[in-house]
Amino acid sequence: MYTNVCKHCYKVFKSRIRTLSCNDCRQKDEDHFDDIELYLKEYPNSNALQVSEALGITAYEVLKYLHEGRLNISRGRFEQIDD
Ligand SMILES: [Zn+2]
Repeated sequence: MYTNVCKHCYKVFKSRIRTLSCNDCRQKDEDHFDDIELYLKEYPNSNALQVSEALGITAYEVLKYLHEGRLNISRGRFEQIDD
C-alpha cells in the first residue's frame, strides 16, 4: 500500500497504486488533465504558470501532472517556475 496525498484536496489516503488524486477528486482530476492537454496542444511552449493562469488550475497541480508522467511536453522549459 502507498500513502498518497491528493493534489486537489490534500487529503492523505492509502491506495494500492501510487496516485495523486483521491476517489473524491478523480473526476476533477480527469477534467483538469483534459483541459491542460488541450491547452498545450494549442500553446505547446507554455510553462506551468501560464497553463495555471489560463485554466485556473494551480501551478502546483499542473506540475504534479508532469511528475506523474502524464503530460508529454518539453520538460526543462515547463518547470521553470521556481521562485
Ligand atoms: Zn481529493
